[in-house]
Order: sequence, then structure tokens, then C-alpha cells
Amino acid sequence: MSTVIETEEHKALRAAVAALGKRYGREYLTTVIKEGRHPDELWAEAAKLGYLGVNLPEAYGGGGGGIAELSIVLEELGAAGCPLLMLVVSPAICGTVIARFGTEAQKREWLPKIAEGTRTMAFGITEPDAGSNSHRITTTARRDGTDWVLTGRKVFISGVDIADATLIVGRTQDAKTGRLKPCLFIVPRDADGFEWRPIDMELRGAEKQFELTLDDVRLSADALVGDDDAGLFQLFAGLNPERVMTAAFAIGIGRYALSRAVDYARERTVWKEPIGAHQAVAHPLAQAHIELELARLMMQRAAFLYDAGDDAAAGEAANMAKYAAGEACVKAVDQAVHTLGGNGLTSEFGLASLITVSRVARIAPVSREMILNFVSHQTLGLPKSY
Ligand SMILES: Cc1cc2nc3c(=O)[nH]c(=O)nc-3n(C[C@H](O)[C@H](O)[C@H](O)COP(=O)(O)OP(=O)(O)OC[C@H]3O[C@@H](n4cnc5c(N)ncnc54)[C@H](O)[C@@H]3O)c2cc1C
Repeated sequence: MSTVIETEEHKALRAAVAALGKRYGREYLTTVIKEGRHPDELWAEAAKLGYLGVNLPEAYGGGGGGIAELSIVLEELGAAGCPLLMLVVSPAICGTVIARFGTEAQKREWLPKIAEGTRTMAFGITEPDAGSNSHRITTTARRDGTDWVLTGRKVFISGVDIADATLIVGRTQDAKTGRLKPCLFIVPRDADGFEWRPIDMELRGAEKQFELTLDDVRLSADALVGDDDAGLFQLFAGLNPERVMTAAFAIGIGRYALSRAVDYARERTVWKEPIGAHQAVAHPLAQAHIELELARLMMQRAAFLYDAGDDAAAGEAANMAKYAAGEACVKAVDQAVHTLGGNGLTSEFGLASLITVSRVARIAPVSREMILNFVSHQTLGLPKSY
């Protein structure tokens, strides 16, 4: 695969997903959200067409592709106005981590069902007292015989209500050094001591965010994914795809908003020519398009590096792609709303609600500033202030 020119297979996938997205579209998602439902029909159809598990190994019911393909799926659904946020979490993070580090039994139990859309897995790392500083998480796993007992709190975890389990990032105490190390556990939704409550968000989305409490949640040994010694390496195997997929989410939404604005600017006439003829209207839209395209190029590069197994290079590229896509999305949505004048703020046109949605990609899963920190320290070798 080339990162500069898309392959015929990728173009075909893009066109097929775009056609699916078009059949559902923004109206479908708006109705689902209004009715307080989940986009189950679209999720099921995407699964049937092989899109949900396109990145998962063929041996476990997946399509045998990578994050490059999955990001195309999310971007195109977003561009049609109906992004599926749980694609970022279930197949991209959880599916990847299980496929790479899970036991044979975990792979057999989860991957085919994630691919066929009958099971979903949420992902929980963020904690109220750690936030961006995930080295500070305190959700602790202690051994009790062969079992693990998990205690802690998580916040902003997406889709816990619809997920059959949540992949929880905890830490074990290293007996030798006293240092805490991250490890990953599959926590079933109905586990004793596992509670969640929705957080009121000013976001119009089908997927809700939750605060979790893990109060001595007892898990059998087979709940641990991979090795309790592999630590950060395993974690980043899931977090790099998450960044690529957040970029896809952002680019999709940016494209959707931009296309609505362009359609409007072509038609709306208050002087002699449609407003799109005024360069003050046209240029910012052109700029938004260029920035979305540039962000996509970096996203494709990150996906290519990740799929090629170059985790270190993928980490840098995935961060930069997420940054670029988040910024491009915020700008595109802002300009789209502005292009519609008063209509930009009406429910009928439905663009204003994307303002908060577009901010998600600037904050999550890692904020703009934390990416700038990463590039300052890791790429440029500048000293650290914290
Ligand atoms: C819609 C949504 C869905 C989410 N879904 C999930 C999920 O499914 N699973 C999950 O685990 N998490 C999820 N999150 C959480 C998300 O990853 C966090 O919100 C994000 O990591 C930022 O953490 P925080 O909110 O605690 O902000 P903080 O860490 O409190 O940061 C606040 C501000 O301070 C800045 N800041 C912090 N430290 C520095 C520094 N050293 N230098 C410069 N600036 C700094 C940040 O950039 C930010 O602007 C979700 C969040 C949202 C909004």
C-alpha cells in the first residue's frame, strides 16, 4: 500500500462504505439520538458487510486488513453524517489488543463476535485524579490466589451501557521494585462491584460517557489480557490505533460539515451572486478542505506504519495525525456553521451541535497540548517542564 496514493482496494472500500453511509445519513443518526437509541441498524449492517472487523485477523472472523481499512470505514461513515464512535473503541483498541496479546481463548471468545457486531467492548483508562497523566492512574489489581481483585474509578468511558465488557487499564504492584505497572483486564458488564453512571454531556451523540466504580471486582486469571509484565508496550498497541481512528472520526465530521456548507454557499444568494462567490466565504472553506486533506495524509501514514508493525514510528505519526485532524475538524465545523449565517444555529440544519462534537477530537483521547508536549520532547528533544 502506498500512503500517498490510495490503492484500488481502498478506493473500492471507501466507495462502498460511503454508499452505506449515504443510505443512513445524518437524518438517521439524528433520529436515533432524539429517540435515545443506539445506531443498532447501521452497526449490524456494517458488521454484515464485514466493515466492523475489517482490521481483525481472518482466522477469528475478521477481514484480515488493518487500521488503514478500519479508518476508511469510520471516515466515510462520518463524512455521511453518521459516524460510529464505538468503532474507535471496540474493534480498534480492544480488538487490536486482544488480537496481538490475548490468549487463544480470549481471541476465540471475543474477536469473531466483535467482528460480527454481536459483542462490543468499551475501553477505560481515564481517571478523575489522573486525566492526561495516565502514569498516575490508581486503579489497582491485586492477586488473591489465582484471581485478580480490581479497585478504582474511571471517568468519561464511552459506551459502557452497550458494551458487554470494558477493557480496564489498571496497575499491579511490582514486588521487586515497588513501581506500578499498567495491565489490562476484561471486566464483564455484570461483574459484582462494577458500577457505572452516565455523565451529563453537552454532546449530541448516540454514545454516552460514564463514570465507573470498581469496588473489589473479582476476576478470574483469564481476565488479564496478555502479560502483566508487558506494561506500556501492550497499552500503546491499542492507543496508537485509537489515535488514528480519532483522526478518522474528526476528518469524517469535518468533511460532512464542509460539504453542507459548500452546498449552502452555492445556493444562498443575498446579493447578485451566491455567497460562495465571495472570497471571504469561499477561501476559508477551501482552506478547511486543504487542512482536512493534509490531516488525512498523515492519518494514512500513521495507519500504514502501524499496520507495517513499526510501533515507534506509528506512535509519532498517530499523534501528529490526531492533532492535525482535530484542529482541521474544529476549523471546518466552525467555518461551516458561520457559512450558514443564522441557519448555522438552527436545529433544522443541525450543524451547531457539531461544534461540541468537533471539540472531542481536540481533547480525547489525548489532548492537543499533550501531543504538542510529545512532539516537543520526543521529536524535537526539548526539555520537559512537568
Ligand atoms: C466524548 C469523550 C469520550 C471519551 N471516551 C473515553 C473512553 O472511552 N475511554 C477513556 O478512557 N477515556 C475517554 N475519554 C477521556 C479523555 O481521554 C480525556 O478527557 C482526555 O485524556 C483528557 O483528560 P482530562 O479530561 O482529565 O483533562 P486534563 O488532563 O484535566 O486536562 C485539562 C487541560 O489541561 C491541559 N493539560 C494537562 N496537562 C498538561 C501539560 N502537561 N501541558 C499542557 N497542558 C496540559 C490539557 O491539554 C487540557 O486542555 C473521553 C472524553 C470525551 C470528552
